[in-house]
Amino acid sequence: MPRRGYKDIILGELTHDCLFCRIVRREIAAQIVYEDEQALVFKDVNAQAPTHVLVVPKKHLGSLAASTDEDGVLLGHLQRVACRVAENAKLASFRLVTNSGRGAGQSVEHLHYHLLAGRPMQWPPG
Ligand code: AMP
Repeated sequence: MPRRGYKDIILGELTHDCLFCRIVRREIAAQIVYEDEQALVFKDVNAQAPTHVLVVPKKHLGSLAASTDEDGVLLGHLQRVACRVAENAKLASFRLVTNSGRGAGQSVEHLHYHLLAGRPMQWPPG
């Protein structure tokens, strides 16, 4: 059993009944567009672009900041999944972003990458 840090305890262990864990377990409905052993991708209910899906690990991680070096392969996999979804949807360009922490705009405490496409994107984001 790997030793866990304080971030796992605050954002991980205590929140495994979080919204996205419940979507992963099919306890809450979502429009799923991709699934494999480690990842689930579903449409955001409040889309901010013509394409707006969330790339989520099935393993509960409270945020990107709650990940450890042991999660490196999983984090890489999630980015590759985003590319695969973008390819399948024939997206010419896309934005992949994660909000880590409330101050950055994170509202659901389960790591997720927003995959956004289909309209011009501004930089820097608001
Ligand atoms: P963030 O604010 O970065 O944590 O993003 C959370 C995202 O989850 C928001 O864009 C919400 O619209 C989205 N969201 C919240 N509840 C659901 C749900 N039940 N199904 C799909 N997306 C959701």
